[in-house]
Amino acid sequence: MKLQEYMGKELLRAADVPVPPGSVAETPDEAAEIAGGLGPVAVKAQVLVGGRGKAGGIKLADTSEQARTAAAQILGMDLKGLTVTKVLVEQQVDIAAEYYAGITLDRSSHRFVLMLSSMGGIDIEDVAVSNPEAIVKTSIDPAYGLQAFQVRRAMFDANFDRVAFKDLQRILMGLYRVMVDTDAMLAEINPLAVTANGSAIAADAKVDLDDAALYRHPDLAAGKAESIGDPIERHASEQGVPYVKLDGNVGVIGNGAGLVMMTIDVIKQAGGEPANFLDIGGGARADVVRRAIETVLMDRQVEGIVMNIFGGITRGDEVAKGLLEAAQTLDLSVPIAIRLAGTREAEGRQLLEGSAFTPAPDLVAATATVLQQMKERQTAAGGRR
Ligand code: GDP
Ligand code: MN
Repeated sequence: MKLQEYMGKELLRAADVPVPPGSVAETPDEAAEIAGGLGPVAVKAQVLVGGRGKAGGIKLADTSEQARTAAAQILGMDLKGLTVTKVLVEQQVDIAAEYYAGITLDRSSHRFVLMLSSMGGIDIEDVAVSNPEAIVKTSIDPAYGLQAFQVRRAMFDANFDRVAFKDLQRILMGLYRVMVDTDAMLAEINPLAVTANGSAIAADAKVDLDDAALYRHPDLAAGKAESIGDPIERHASEQGVPYVKLDGNVGVIGNGAGLVMMTIDVIKQAGGEPANFLDIGGGARADVVRRAIETVLMDRQVEGIVMNIFGGITRGDEVAKGLLEAAQTLDLSVPIAIRLAGTREAEGRQLLEGSAFTPAPDLVAATATVLQQMKERQTAAGGRR
């Protein structure tokens, strides 16, 4: 779960990392009011995408009137497909140097790794490609944690500012504390700024929490839905349905992540474009199936749905019931085909008899049926035009 910049900065502040004073505004008036007490400010779009600066999502303002104008321009803006509803208004940092500092999980060494670079302010992924030697990596032993001597050595190797050395060291230790205390998978400050007067401050914050550990942080978990930019993905998350939006027009529902991914492959092979990933999991009851169909149909691009159910603990009759419930409560105007196999398959088939959802003999056939019907409808719609 990715946290917005302002939430990441709250965590950093609590770990004694200096961050610019400021707060969040949802209207230009609020932005002007916050700016009033701060002097020159930066007005920053709170959306979970990188490169906000280049995309026009960050504006500097010297007066509260300018902050109002900047906020009016940024609020409601579309940044890489996400609508901005909040801006962070914070005191401008007089940046003299921009560094990069990040801690992430290195899955090959099973350890956290600290990454430092004096090439801050730009995407670290780009630095990794163009100047890999400019990133200093330090592996952190979980038994001992990040040690002060390691931090100092890494800062020397990365050519960090000598005047701000002590400040920077404290910030990196604070970053590590946030990483461990929140069960994060990534904690990043980019840019880690050194100001003209030689102090260091976190000008940006990116924290990505481990979803599997969210139960240990109920206060942070409460913001889960808000952290999801895509409205359908947010709805799905609220419903507890694992859903990922894709770009195509063929909806996909299956039980088990592997089965869903395989269904996506089969649709692709048949020349279709999957609209989503949706896993109803093991043992889903009828209402879960109904909610899954409802979620997939929230995507206006969807023109057909392929369902792939291989019953183990998932029961064919429950899936069939869910499908029939969905037909009663939703406007199922798109073709839906289902491959149904395994536990209580016969009962499921019996329930579906006479309905619009006759199970296909296999997944390839189900896919072909949906794609064929979608094509016929497109032709018919085209003919009418
Ligand atoms: P990102 O592009 O989405 O990662 O947003 P950042 O918060 O990292 O800001 C991008 C860039 O905007 C930074 O690298 C800075 O150059 C600039 N910037 C952000 N905040 C300030 C500020 O308070 N003062 C100044 N002078 N520049 C800022
Ligand atoms: Mn940044």
